Amino acid sequence: MTVTPMMAQYLDLKADYADALLFYRMGDFYEMFFEDAVAAADALDIALTKRGKHDGADIPMCGVPVHAAEGYLLTLIRKGFRVAVCEQMESPAEAKKRGSKSVVKRDVVRLVTPGTLTEETLLEARRNNYLTSFAQVRDAQALAWADISTGAFHVMPLSALKLGPELARLSPSELICSESAENDLREIADDFGIALTGLARASFDSTSGEQRICDLFGVETLDSYGAFTRAEVAAMGGVIQYLDITQKGKLPLLRPPQRETENRTVQIDAATRRNLELTQALSGGRAGSLLAVIDRTITAGGGRLMSARIASPSRDLETITNRHDAVSFAQERHDLCSTLRDHLRKVPDLDRALSRLSLDRGGPRDMAAIRNGLTQAAVLFDTLSSDDLPMLLAGSVNDLSGHERLIDRLDTTLVAEPPLLARDGGFIAAGFDAELDEARSLRDEGRGVIARMQKEFAALTGITSLKIKHNNVLGYFIETTATHAEKMLSPPMSETFIHRQTTANQVRFTTVELSELETKILNAGGRALEIEKRLYETLKSDILACSARIAQTASALAELDLTAALATLATTDGWVRPKVDKSRAFAIENGRHPVVEHALRQQSGDPFIANDCDLSAEGDTAQIYLLTGPNMAGKSTYLRQNAIIALLAQMGSFVPASSAHIGLVSQLFSRVGASDDLARGRSTFMVEMVETAAILNQADDRALVILDEIGRGTATYDGLSIAWATLEHLHDVNKSRALFATHYHEMTALAGKLTGVENATVTVKEWEGDVIFLHEVKMGAADRSYGVQVAQLAGLPPAVITRARAVLEILEKGEREGGATHKTLIDDLPLFSVAPAPAPPPAKASAVDAQLAEIHPDELTPKQALELLYQLKEAA
Ligand code: ADP
Repeated sequence: MTVTPMMAQYLDLKADYADALLFYRMGDFYEMFFEDAVAAADALDIALTKRGKHDGADIPMCGVPVHAAEGYLLTLIRKGFRVAVCEQMESPAEAKKRGSKSVVKRDVVRLVTPGTLTEETLLEARRNNYLTSFAQVRDAQALAWADISTGAFHVMPLSALKLGPELARLSPSELICSESAENDLREIADDFGIALTGLARASFDSTSGEQRICDLFGVETLDSYGAFTRAEVAAMGGVIQYLDITQKGKLPLLRPPQRETENRTVQIDAATRRNLELTQALSGGRAGSLLAVIDRTITAGGGRLMSARIASPSRDLETITNRHDAVSFAQERHDLCSTLRDHLRKVPDLDRALSRLSLDRGGPRDMAAIRNGLTQAAVLFDTLSSDDLPMLLAGSVNDLSGHERLIDRLDTTLVAEPPLLARDGGFIAAGFDAELDEARSLRDEGRGVIARMQKEFAALTGITSLKIKHNNVLGYFIETTATHAEKMLSPPMSETFIHRQTTANQVRFTTVELSELETKILNAGGRALEIEKRLYETLKSDILACSARIAQTASALAELDLTAALATLATTDGWVRPKVDKSRAFAIENGRHPVVEHALRQQSGDPFIANDCDLSAEGDTAQIYLLTGPNMAGKSTYLRQNAIIALLAQMGSFVPASSAHIGLVSQLFSRVGASDDLARGRSTFMVEMVETAAILNQADDRALVILDEIGRGTATYDGLSIAWATLEHLHDVNKSRALFATHYHEMTALAGKLTGVENATVTVKEWEGDVIFLHEVKMGAADRSYGVQVAQLAGLPPAVITRARAVLEILEKGEREGGATHKTLIDDLPLFSVAPAPAPPPAKASAVDAQLAEIHPDELTPKQALELLYQLKEAA
């Protein structure tokens, strides 16, 4: 078998990246071969061609142009591929020098995976892109996470049981683990739609991990960053090892690891996050989520902080109070706040610019971003530092200054609006470097001389249309139309003009003078470019030398942005500062649901009806509202709004209410009865029960629990019994503060039995047989469920409504008299009383009937059922 040298090189490289697509650089294209080509052509919807043969068969090939590669990369990463980018490490000319048959040297420079992206176009500006790493050392486990696009690096001890909630909080795009743990983590990764990558066990060895961390941060011992468990060290070591593999040794600028503890933030599991639509709406996107409605931040960094805070409300009273103090200050000092926001509008994404520079994927524009950001930070420092600021803001403002020298350096070095890439030069300001200025003026003068030369040649030849042009093949040349060829090619003109090329319509020439000038221009241009590149590198190291302080400034700007955004929100939407303390209070007056309120304002213009809620508990007793009321009355809205108010208060925001007093909440649980979870193929009732079990097993007396229609997913009596027992358990064992909505009116009797349970209802008014929703929550039980009226509103046919009223009357009568309702119902009411009389059965019906009698639906698979349906249709 003969393999071309190029194919041999390809196969050699590909062998190291079996689980990735290999982008093999050939000139202006990244080419893919064999199965890679087939898979990529399909995923990218591009043409599959072939190139040469291997083992006697055609080699499938497809390719993407280098200049458009980012877009294709994004599609491939989104579709779950990993991509190894292989570049040419020398020019074809250099390869030729080594031997006429030499293949250009190539090597993989980067492995692109979902958790290791840095490109602006591949990332969402207002979201962190986390790479998570889970490690186990003996009985202890830990999770580390890093965002290489911002430099964030964190770690915490974490038992495998708590991994789900933590992944839900961080919503990372990739999880790495030792290959021995890959199978155990597969399900959870799939559940959250996270790419899972198993690494060799050595990658998670805690001893070499410690060494890797020390090397990365240039420290002797890890102690300077805190005391870490072996598992934490292993998890962090895994992150660094993976970055080393994917970035091919070029490590990003990570900040020293920050240790988090499990008890620092409110525990909120995945189901609760989904249900409360914190950062994502149930429909999937950001639109319609709490985050989308309340986010008033201006900068990308502020946006990321907002999203992180909503996902991780604090449990620490001091932290929360400091944040509230800051928002209060920003709200009172309205003018200062709007000046602050004006400056923030000019602040670019410092974190990501810095990260790109550190990975050598940046350019002059990233340097300008750092210059502009730091300049604004300095202005803000001058504006704010003289004020008597609350603690949080004083700390942030302090971090804004100290960049004078770097700003000065960037100001004098860079032009105002530099190009994206360093490649073509043109970003170093005039006057900064004498040698560069000289080279540039030589180059530019040369261009002026060319213009003059063109005029002279036109005069000399008498050809007014004569032009001097430039292309990459010929360099500078003189061009005339073919009609003048004769004149130019014969003396005396041919003594001056040297023929270069004849095309269909043009003839091209050069002169000795022009070639000399060209060499001068080229040399000067080349020299200018070289100088610029050198200056770029020095400037880059100057910036990176200050990276830690720049990162601090970026965090400070994000904190200021968030504070000002929350103050603005509080003012425009009439939110108030909540009182948070260590009591077990939960007293909300005139609370509102920000998302529903926003939707109403946009759609119907109807006002949102504010409601109170008092779940304040004494000692360690439970305090629960049992909420009844018809569908559509606003039960779910009320439940969620109270959970959201608690969460907003603890993330440091003001809240949509006229007053709020909240005793610290440590866990937040929210469950909704049997919403369809078909996508994940689990029985809806099963999901509901698994989730309810999780609450009853975990909730404590600091938990806030909202349960919406638990038990709805099964038969009436089963459902009622489960809901009943659940409420009792919450009251007696968990002792939580809770809101419990149900349509089982029987449960209202529990209020008399359990001291901490009170009945509440969402009121409606009946008017001329119709029901009007008042959306007002009042203490007491609902008198009826109004289901039939709601059905009528929904547009059920009048005949069905009339029939339903009749059935309801009999059922209620039966219940009052304790009789056998179902029997009465069937005996008293002809079954087809409102339907038209059935048509006589067709002749073939008996065959179908017989077949139907044979069928046991419970035993059929969906596929069998469908086949049967076809058969029946045929028989009928
Ligand atoms: P339920 O859970 O009782 O079936 P929802 O909470 O889903 O009812 O509310 C149904 C609709 O009623 C909401 O989509 C909203 O438009 C409206 N709604 C709910 N609560 C209020 C309120 N407090 N003020 C105004 N409209 C409300």
